[in-house]
Amino acid sequence: MRVIKGDTVEVLTGSQAAAERPGRVRGKVLRVLPREGKVVVEGVNRRYKHVRQSQRYPQGGRIQREMPIDISNVMPVCPNCDKGVRVSYRINEDGSKERVCRKCGTVLHQITKPKSG
Ligand SMILES: [Zn+2]
Repeated sequence: MRVIKGDTVEVLTGSQAAAERPGRVRGKVLRVLPREGKVVVEGVNRRYKHVRQSQRYPQGGRIQREMPIDISNVMPVCPNCDKGVRVSYRINEDGSKERVCRKCGTVLHQITKPKSG
């Protein structure tokens, strides 16, 4: 998966907001659905959903909820490039594995910690 939970991603297409403001729609990844190849991004593709009264939704009625969008429509944002970028993986001499921006090499996320000892 090139996108993981907690990433800030740029939404390329696949939502109305992105169509209106290409390259400017960003949000945090709330969930990754690897089997479906989809992600849920905070504040993106929000839909009203009708729910019954339940323990979880004591009020019932209408709630706003983000719907999953295709993972191919999002790219992790590189803080240095300040835009959605392609990522690659790098394994360091200390054994740590990192996800890095393919353009400038900024580390976006450490996947595995250095091996100690
Ligand atoms: Zn970069």
